[in-house]
Amino acid sequence: MALRKLIAGNWKMHGLKADGLALAGDLAQRLERERLGCDLLVCPPATLVAAVAEALAGTGIAVGGQDCHAERSGAHTGDVAAAMLKDAGCSHVILGHSERRADHHESDAVVRAKVAAARAAGLIAVLCVGETAQQRDAGRTLDVVGAQLAGSLPGGMAAAQLVVAYEPVWAIGTGRTPTAADVAAVHRHIRGQLADRVADAAGVRLLYGGSVKPENARELLHVPDVDGALVGGASLKAADFWAIATAAA
Ligand code: PEP
Repeated sequence: MALRKLIAGNWKMHGLKADGLALAGDLAQRLERERLGCDLLVCPPATLVAAVAEALAGTGIAVGGQDCHAERSGAHTGDVAAAMLKDAGCSHVILGHSERRADHHESDAVVRAKVAAARAAGLIAVLCVGETAQQRDAGRTLDVVGAQLAGSLPGGMAAAQLVVAYEPVWAIGTGRTPTAADVAAVHRHIRGQLADRVADAAGVRLLYGGSVKPENARELLHVPDVDGALVGGASLKAADFWAIATAAA
């Protein structure tokens, strides 16, 4: 049975309060006018999570964080705990994004601890995996993605606690995307790997991420085993994000 698709927006480090509230308000208005055949999630910067969650309360648009700390609380200046995101109105949190793996040297073990922290706080982890251009050129995509998944997933996860996003690093923000056949092969591999680790693996939504735009959304979102998209740049314009969401139907 096909899973209901999830279109998630990663706003990254973009936007002040007025921008975030305008974007959230525009999406909410569109959703009021038009029914969508998929779920929507927006992940604003940490400073905007509470305001955006408040603005979107009752609209059906979910809100997520972009990272959380592995510890429940403590002396970790500048970090945000999973429970704090939950308290601010989040239902999801992106973890293991390649920008954090690169900029903050996050290892699979660190990401695994964060996924466990998210689960403990009642958040759904959007776990990101993906190969670099070099790894792809060396024909190592499936091995790299499989190893990241194995290293980043705590034991005993259930489908309701997890979303996996396949994001080739070389496709993020570049305008380049893998072929539909390549995406299908990686997603099939991820689904197979999850079968060994998650009891109800068939229920885990697998998102594709990396230069998803209104122009390529229909093709990418109809690849077998693609249950949605994680969208960066195009999620900052309500019209583009909406066009991607309508392509999911
Ligand atoms: C991302 O960084 O999660 C992403 C998918 O970015 P973009 O859509 O801009 O490639």
